[in-house]
Amino acid sequence: KRNVLIIGAGGVAQVVAHKCAQNNDVLGDIHIASRTSAKCDAIIDSIREKSSLKTDGVLAAHALDAMDSAAVAQLIRDTGVQIVINVGSPFVNMTVLEACIETGTAYMDTAIHEDPTKICETPPWYGNYEWQRRDRCAKTGTTAILGIGFDPGVVNAYAKLAIDDYLDEVTSIDIVDINAGSHGRWFSTNFDPEINFREFTGTVYSWQNGNWQTNTMFEVGKTWDLPVVGQQKAYMTGHDEVHSLATNYPQADVRFWMGFGDHYINVFTVLKNLGLLSEQPVKTAEGLEVIPLKVVKAVLPDPSSLAPDYTGKTCIGDLVKGTKDGKPTEVFVYNIADHKDAYNEVGSQGISYTAGVPPVAAAMLIANGTWDTGTMVNVEELDPKPFLTLLDQIGLPTRVKDANGDRPWNA
Ligand code: NDP
Repeated sequence: KRNVLIIGAGGVAQVVAHKCAQNNDVLGDIHIASRTSAKCDAIIDSIREKSSLKTDGVLAAHALDAMDSAAVAQLIRDTGVQIVINVGSPFVNMTVLEACIETGTAYMDTAIHEDPTKICETPPWYGNYEWQRRDRCAKTGTTAILGIGFDPGVVNAYAKLAIDDYLDEVTSIDIVDINAGSHGRWFSTNFDPEINFREFTGTVYSWQNGNWQTNTMFEVGKTWDLPVVGQQKAYMTGHDEVHSLATNYPQADVRFWMGFGDHYINVFTVLKNLGLLSEQPVKTAEGLEVIPLKVVKAVLPDPSSLAPDYTGKTCIGDLVKGTKDGKPTEVFVYNIADHKDAYNEVGSQGISYTAGVPPVAAAMLIANGTWDTGTMVNVEELDPKPFLTLLDQIGLPTRVKDANGDRPWNA
């Protein structure tokens, strides 16, 4: 058994905590630490309510400022955990990683580190912060699995599976993320509005013809015809995994596409053009200093409050093209998740569910030694099969669609 510390107590942390509890025969003590300890308590209450602890064990809440690396290291020592699942805001990633390197504790996150004073990180995303610490992870034998949510995360494993098992040569990887669900609110983001908007305010980067290509947001759109969710319009967007996949497969074009409805695009465009997505403080006539983006976040629904009413499905997958036996070949590796099922099981909406289950699968693979690399890796550098097998068992089954039909990946 390996004991786990979960950092953050938001939508994704709720799923992580439930899934750790359901698997606490492999994972041991479960500690949840966040800025607001009441949110950790609420997660613990919801686990006890659904009685989803597999076996009796420690389930404890802690107040923590994760921007304080020494405090994180101290909590790791006090709780005796061997694995940290960091699903706090991406602003805390490097302070948490530093604490893990200092204490030799396995580290995981689900997004690239972001500097709160910058509007949007630019390529080389992982090179800005994470990979600068790779040598120190190797030297200290610290396992660090970067970006192990769904995207980045599972989609990196899908790319590796497609390239290794279905192709001789890869020419393109298109990651498509469609949320065909409905939350019933006039407007809401599905996760932290601050992070969500920051993702789309900057330049759109993609890796094509061996170079970084730049576009503006909503400039390049395409209608995809996908399993279960049908015809969906998605737009080319910058995303963490484009960088690591382009580094590991520079011969392939790597693009990320996210589905947006016209209503989201309208609201986003108005907010942006009014300056309400700015992270630069402004002064009101009354002398009050406010950060517009923080105000927008404060008035929008808390994404975790969407869960009870959310219906519909998500489809996230990789269309990977190349050649096999000299012939052009393509395969779509994907998952379908259901918002209502996620709510019934762990009290969260589908977006949090798809992001929160994968790091728990990874923690289980670290606990049994399969993924305990003793160094820093992105997900496509690991064997995807034990990971996808475990995801099949704990809530995120993988399917494959190609010229031979549409079936479970290991059928
Ligand atoms: P939330 O905003 O719901 O939760 C973030 C949590 O971090 C909150 O509980 C917040 O505390 C806590 N936090 C913020 N700053 C600190 C700090 N200084 N010290 C301690 N705790 C802090 O976000 P989500 O749960 O939706 O997302 C969590 C992470 O997952 C993000 O990094 C997000 O980008 C990533 N993500 C990844 C996906 C993927 O597929 N790869 C998909 C969706 C999200 P407080 O409650 O006090 O504000």
